[in-house]
Amino acid sequence: MSSQLTAYITLICTSGVLNLYLCVNVFIKRHHYRNIAYFFMLYTTSITIYCFASAFGLMATTLESMKIWTTIQYVGMPFGPPLGLLFVMQYLGLKITRARILALLAIPCVSLAMVATNDSHHLHYRVFEVDPILGAPYIHQEIGIWYMIHGVYIFACMFVAFLLILSRWRETAKVYRPQIISLAFGQLVPMLTAFVYLIGFTPVGIDPVPMVLWLSSLLYLWSINSSRMFTIMPIAKDTIFNSINDGVMVLDESYRLIEFNQACKAMFPPLNKSMFGMDFQKIWSQLSGDPSPSKFENAAFNREIQLGTDDSKRIFQVRTSSLQHANNSKGLLIIFTDITEIKRLQVELEHQAYYDELTQIYNRRAFFQKCEQDFAAATKALVPFTVILIDIDYFKKVNDTFGHYVGDQLLAHVVKVCQMQLKDGLLFARYGGEEFVVALKGYTLFEGEVLANQLRKAVENQPLITTEEVISVTLSSGVAEVAKAAEETLHQLLNKADQALYSAKRAGRNQVHVYNHEKLNLLE
Ligand code: GH3
Ligand code: MG
Ligand code: MG
Repeated sequence: MSSQLTAYITLICTSGVLNLYLCVNVFIKRHHYRNIAYFFMLYTTSITIYCFASAFGLMATTLESMKIWTTIQYVGMPFGPPLGLLFVMQYLGLKITRARILALLAIPCVSLAMVATNDSHHLHYRVFEVDPILGAPYIHQEIGIWYMIHGVYIFACMFVAFLLILSRWRETAKVYRPQIISLAFGQLVPMLTAFVYLIGFTPVGIDPVPMVLWLSSLLYLWSINSSRMFTIMPIAKDTIFNSINDGVMVLDESYRLIEFNQACKAMFPPLNKSMFGMDFQKIWSQLSGDPSPSKFENAAFNREIQLGTDDSKRIFQVRTSSLQHANNSKGLLIIFTDITEIKRLQVELEHQAYYDELTQIYNRRAFFQKCEQDFAAATKALVPFTVILIDIDYFKKVNDTFGHYVGDQLLAHVVKVCQMQLKDGLLFARYGGEEFVVALKGYTLFEGEVLANQLRKAVENQPLITTEEVISVTLSSGVAEVAKAAEETLHQLLNKADQALYSAKRAGRNQVHVYNHEKLNLLE
């Protein structure tokens, strides 16, 4: 065997051993690595088979054994580049589906079949024989149609992988760049060698690619060990952009749409990539159905906006911030947060905080909050202000006789009857268990008393009719007006009304008493 051939075999075996080492190494540690390790293992396995079969092929002495080793080479070689591409795609976070894997591995499967059966069709090698001048193991070959397809295909796989890696260069953080470099060169080395071989600049009769694959393996080895290629990997900025739950739109300095993320598309389904370059105002009026200017073109916009009608109403918190592009031009980032659900919960919680669950009128807390304001405004403007405290008579008996559930129904019924008598805008609240309060801004004591009697009569005349019973109840009320001269508080006013109510109860119930500072029980 010539020393040149020995050198070739040594180089090829080095590639094979290094690939085998890489494969075993990653296999042992595969549980610490991410999924990407599996494609890498398949990739290095195919290269290992290719290298060793190639080395054995160079030791062959007959055409028959050269053919056998060539077929074995094809168990690995045609699969290497597409597996390398899959590995790169997974590294870069591109979507890998079963269909994509099958599609990528279809041609290599055919290539293997073609080589194994070449003698019967000669589609891969038109001529495959021992080189008549150099002798075995040098091959004289003339390529067939399938060889060309196979050659173009594996070259394209390496090229695409290489381009994909390069396309990420700019957006890859510095810390990940060694990984990117080693991956790019790992693809470039066999690609260039294959190219040089195909155009005939390499030693005749021998495939030089396995001789250089050790270089790629060393690069991968370095990358795995020094920059932890399989444990930490860059996440494509696109992936990050599209993983944000908020809708994001990017405008250029002329306020034309240049980018949006998936969340934005989900929020505004009519949004599509054909709108890139369109004026944002135009897009916004399409999306929102509102032809008026959006006013978002302000780098510090932060407001809630409502879109859609009642059924489809959505509320968004919209924030904007200015964007400095690399080329120094300015742009705008618009961020949409869907707060519809938060708002709904907020409204519900507010409702629960301010409304009485049973009767759906204001509770005591809401009454004081709202009444304090009205009371202050009325006393300041010297407008009369009157309150009515209402208490249902003998309510305990209702509970005792008909049960708590019917008691509840009666409370709601009394409230409904009262509401029908009360003008819109009057403050009516549940003051306690079966006590209610009405605040009457602008009403005199007399007007309050008239209204209280109106309520009393309405309730008296409209019993609660259930499926089993007809339940009548009556009301007792105390009415008090704020004293004009004295500096009175709301609590003092309510206290006066309470005294009047107490007086009405003592006088036999089902009546209205007004507070008179000289004499109580004056009026009924
Ligand atoms: P009067 O006011 O005429 O003196 O007699 P009363 O029986 O109405 O007076 P009291 O204040 O002693 O009783 C009020 C009752 O109201 C006691 C309580 O069990 C009942 N009550 C309070 N809140 C509710 C409620 O939400 N549902 C029901 N079913 N009963 C309630
Ligand atoms: Mg009562
Ligand atoms: Mg009571």
